[in-house]
Amino acid sequence: MSSEITVTGLSKTFGRKGDQVRKALDTIDLEIRSGEMVALIGPSGSGKSTLLRHLSGLCCGDSNSGEVSVLGSPIQHQGKLHPAVRKSRARIGYIFQQFNLVGRMKVLGNVLTGLLGRAPRWRGCLGLFNAQERELARRSLARVGMEAWANQRASLLSGGQQQRVAIARTLTQQAEIILADEPIASLDPKSARQVMDILADINQKDGRTVVVTLHQVEYAREYCQRAIALKEGVVVFDGPSEELTPALLGRIY
Ligand code: ADP
Ligand code: MG
Repeated sequence: MSSEITVTGLSKTFGRKGDQVRKALDTIDLEIRSGEMVALIGPSGSGKSTLLRHLSGLCCGDSNSGEVSVLGSPIQHQGKLHPAVRKSRARIGYIFQQFNLVGRMKVLGNVLTGLLGRAPRWRGCLGLFNAQERELARRSLARVGMEAWANQRASLLSGGQQQRVAIARTLTQQAEIILADEPIASLDPKSARQVMDILADINQKDGRTVVVTLHQVEYAREYCQRAIALKEGVVVFDGPSEELTPALLGRIY
């Protein structure tokens, strides 16, 4: 398996000089290979979201050091994003705890926004998608069991349905890597399970790499072979999720 994401010596601090400096990430080294489904766990404030944002190239600033390389392109941390990263961003799908759909837009329209990084921008902004693109969006909706809702406003859907639509958006985007930040934290257990089943299905059948931050360790154990645990910005565990014993978890949380 080839390496999809490589992180070397990544540190991130928040707060300006003089103020109290917070180290959100402290010398992180890790490698995620193509086709893996990895759980990122750890207590609240341990740096999971910050790390995930770095993997997507969304998080760049002065108070970084170290390197992140995604899909073979380095992300430059001092100053601007590496130009190649802008391109590879279209290959990374991001899923948020609060779904981030446009509520007043129809479900199909939301899914089509996954194409904005791929179709010419003027066309996307005007909503001018061709038949082939619409077909791709419909197929993505069918894949998450939401095709019947294509013409509904997104705001009418339940949380679990919205999250499934958000996943369909990354499928339409044809993202090779899916980064999901607490995708099930706002969902009831049944919807949470549906969402995790879909992510696992996409990982297994399409071979897409999935990195998911999870609050509940049971889900990490059940759905992800590998788990990475953070504590105060440091990787304190990286291995098979079945090795997350109660004693070990007691030291992490
Ligand atoms: P987690 O997702 O594991 O709960 P985060 O990555 O959100 O953790 O946060 C890690 C640490 O960085 C926390 O101490 C948090 O307060 C701090 N932090 C995160 N984002 C910011 C920000 N934009 N400004 C200042 N501090 C932040
Ligand atoms: Mg978080």
